[in-house]
Amino acid sequence: MSEQQHGHEAGQKTGFETRAIHAGYEPDAATGAVIPPIYATSTYKQDGVGGLRGGYEYSRSANPTRTALEGNIAALEEGERGFAFASGLAAEDTLVRALCRPGDHVVVPDDAYGGTYRLFDKVEKAWGLEHSSAAVSDVDAVRAAIRPGTTKLVWVETPTNPLLNIADIEALAAVAHDAGALLVVDNTFASPYLQQPLTLGADVVVHSTTKYCGGHSDVVGGALVVRDLEVADKVAFHQNSMGAVAGPFDSWLVLRGLKTLAVRMDRHCDNAERVVEFLAAHPDVSQVIYPGLEEHPGHAVASRQMKRYGGMVSFRVKGGEQQALGVCERAEVFTLGESLGGVESLIEHPGRMTHASVAGTDLEVPADLVRLSVGIETADDLIADLDRALGARG
Ligand SMILES: *Cc1c(COP(=O)(O)O)cnc(C)c1O
Repeated sequence: MSEQQHGHEAGQKTGFETRAIHAGYEPDAATGAVIPPIYATSTYKQDGVGGLRGGYEYSRSANPTRTALEGNIAALEEGERGFAFASGLAAEDTLVRALCRPGDHVVVPDDAYGGTYRLFDKVEKAWGLEHSSAAVSDVDAVRAAIRPGTTKLVWVETPTNPLLNIADIEALAAVAHDAGALLVVDNTFASPYLQQPLTLGADVVVHSTTKYCGGHSDVVGGALVVRDLEVADKVAFHQNSMGAVAGPFDSWLVLRGLKTLAVRMDRHCDNAERVVEFLAAHPDVSQVIYPGLEEHPGHAVASRQMKRYGGMVSFRVKGGEQQALGVCERAEVFTLGESLGGVESLIEHPGRMTHASVAGTDLEVPADLVRLSVGIETADDLIADLDRALGARG
């Protein structure tokens, strides 16, 4: 990996914001273009048979716009190498097939992102990979779920969705490594600005770059960042062999998003804190769930491993499911919709929307729960909107 991709200069690591803007790309040698062009090309002219320019041969294997993104996100996560995919789930599938074989076992969160759970339960299981679930906030439960010798991956999200449970990355890395397994952290909710799992002992970071990394709700993408060259080689082989790569335009959008990640995340956090303060004082709100609150069971761990507590807020309302649905439908500045991490605020009812598929299982979420992805609009407008939506009890 080049110095440039790590954002090192004279052996010194530059700050996060500097890496976000410069790592992975030097202004184009021919034109000086400050931003990497969208290399809309499938193939590359060779200077004589096998005479590749910069190693580029065919765009499934490598494309310069994707290379820039991969170098950038690796620098932000302080990893050895980054890989960009067509979606978060494509990144996950590639990782699992690179590191596991039929007959192996993985431990997954008992409140995993629904699509991740479906991937393990319906796709990887049919391929012969076993899985069991554990609460990521409970280190002993994760340890107990490991099958020594057979468990290859311990997979966690932190914070989780939508209950914002916190996993202790450092402790779980030790638990996984004791059993000869690798720790994979889905860092989508925190983003690399708020939390860098590889620096805490994790082996692989997963992102749905669709969310905060892209940040503008205009692209679907995924990424992996690894700390170890042996793992990197396996992932690189499978990325090329399975082919679920990020295209050049999608790579360009995610790279543009990453340049402003730090300022966006700070505003997401500022606004989330204002919203939490408002909700906590509201008579019709029975519980506010946010890792920044002292009463949150993961608060101490979150304070250790996160820079701030993020832009996701969940809350429960008095008045049950009808009131929760009413709040979602009456909100106007908060757009009713799934997904998260964009500049615009979103509101949803997990029980009927993102988590409808887990109704009746252990993963069922409370019916009076509302989830917010707090955007970067004017905080007063967000609060006035929630006040109006909560006030009119329907
Ligand atoms: C959205 C999401 C994914 C899946 O990513 P896609 O880009 O939708 O494939 C995985 N994990 C988490 C935490 C997510 O929010």
